[in-house]
Amino acid sequence: MKFDYDLLVVGSGPAGEGAAMAAIKNGLRVAAVENREDVGGSCLHKGTIPSKSLRHVIQQIIRYKKSHIFNQLGDTRSISFPDALKESKRVIPKQVDVHNSFYVKNRVNLFNGVAKFISKHEIEISSPNSISKIVTAKDFIIATGSRPYNPDGVDFSHPRVYDSDSILEMDHTPRTIIIYGAGVIGCEYASIFAGLGIKVDLINTRDRLLSFLDDEISGALNYHLRDVSVMIRHQEEFDYLDAEDDSVTVHLKSGKRLYADAILWCNGRTGNTDTLQLDAIGLEPDRRGQLTVDETYRTSVDNVYAAGDVIGWPSLASASYDQGRAAAGSILGRDINFVNDVPTGIYTLPEISSIGKTERELTDERVPYEVGRAFFKSIARAQISGEEVGMLKILFHIDTFEILGIHCFGAEASEIIHIGQAIMKQPGKQNDIKYFLNTTFNYPTMAEAYRIAALAGLNRIQRFSY
Ligand SMILES: Cc1cc2nc3c(=O)[nH]c(=O)nc-3n(C[C@H](O)[C@H](O)[C@H](O)COP(=O)(O)OP(=O)(O)OC[C@H]3O[C@@H](n4cnc5c(N)ncnc54)[C@H](O)[C@@H]3O)c2cc1C
Repeated sequence: MKFDYDLLVVGSGPAGEGAAMAAIKNGLRVAAVENREDVGGSCLHKGTIPSKSLRHVIQQIIRYKKSHIFNQLGDTRSISFPDALKESKRVIPKQVDVHNSFYVKNRVNLFNGVAKFISKHEIEISSPNSISKIVTAKDFIIATGSRPYNPDGVDFSHPRVYDSDSILEMDHTPRTIIIYGAGVIGCEYASIFAGLGIKVDLINTRDRLLSFLDDEISGALNYHLRDVSVMIRHQEEFDYLDAEDDSVTVHLKSGKRLYADAILWCNGRTGNTDTLQLDAIGLEPDRRGQLTVDETYRTSVDNVYAAGDVIGWPSLASASYDQGRAAAGSILGRDINFVNDVPTGIYTLPEISSIGKTERELTDERVPYEVGRAFFKSIARAQISGEEVGMLKILFHIDTFEILGIHCFGAEASEIIHIGQAIMKQPGKQNDIKYFLNTTFNYPTMAEAYRIAALAGLNRIQRFSY
């Protein structure tokens, strides 16, 4: 059978883009289908980019307010949430242009519409603006991403009830907001709202924040969120919601009642598989709408692959892009690396980033490790920029000096982590904490934190004195 394309990618977020570009550059005939008007996926329109841009605007406001010079002017004006949103959205059309140009330059045919399977080699694309068409392909990559989970019993059409998509359209500035769900997205929005001076109730269903983080870092986040008046409530569970015209009341299973001007629901996400008519090819998503893949990103249907949020963990734009490229690599018959060594980048205020093992994991595994810490408050660059809250922590093996984990919180943590990640990735003995003592870094930079942390850690081992 002659197919229209070698590969058809469904979705143009990071996973779809990574897949389409890797495949076309290696000679396959590739098309992509996207149901949004523009490329970029929820990453560009609802997730990573708008939330980080909004955070940046809030960070600018906080810096301005903290600034000694402007303080002297006695400027007490405040910025509304809609104004901050408007400013933050300026980046979206620029990013759409950049990503669109990749499809144009590389000649990936882009269809606009909702794709659904007719058979394992045929997809129907329908859009309100044109008649539907059938496109055939030898292989498919499903990269349809995810959306906020909206539980039954919560009316998301109510003007005071938001999820992480609809919050980007909120047209007023609440005085108080309840965030239900203290995962990464919930914590990031808690920082954003607190930064605008909005009182936040952050409800966590677990016993500590972001329990996958190193305990000390999770504790620091807890401290700094409380420090900006975020009321964190651990181990609470939602019971029901009363929404009035201008307020909401959240009833928790513990019997507590919380009142606020609005609620942001951040508890869970659902894979976008419901429109794909997967039963036509005998594929069944799990109860979260996610697909299972093997280590080549192939689903249980031999010519259908999947990548990005639709396959679940880690559900990050960073990993999705690499997964998409890897799925295309599998179709090209290459040996690929399954993406599982992913750094965390959490854009709270302060920012958090880590790679490798936590202290708890190393202790459980009975690995003899030592810790080196550097506090931002003693680093010249941090003092100059006024970003003195933060810490870099390196965990290393006391016999081999191998770096086992790096954990950072504070301004630019998600950039700083990559210096350490590069060393950790070196083969064999080259992954050695002493690298930071034997290498000259620019000064003043935040990279100095690596030298200070390495010195502090090595000096804790008695046979060393630096
Ligand atoms: C608030 C928020 C903040 C985030 N912050 C970060 C961050 O800081 N760093 C990070 O790495 N990640 C972050 N993420 C996660 C990141 O956005 C996702 O991991 C990433 O978007 C997943 O990429 P994807 O390509 O799998 O899917 P998506 O980006 O969701 O793209 C999938 C596209 O497929 C389309 N589609 C779905 N079904 C069909 C169909 N049947 N036919 C045609 N098209 C279809 C969708 O409409 C969508 O446009 C954040 C997410 C949220 C919600």
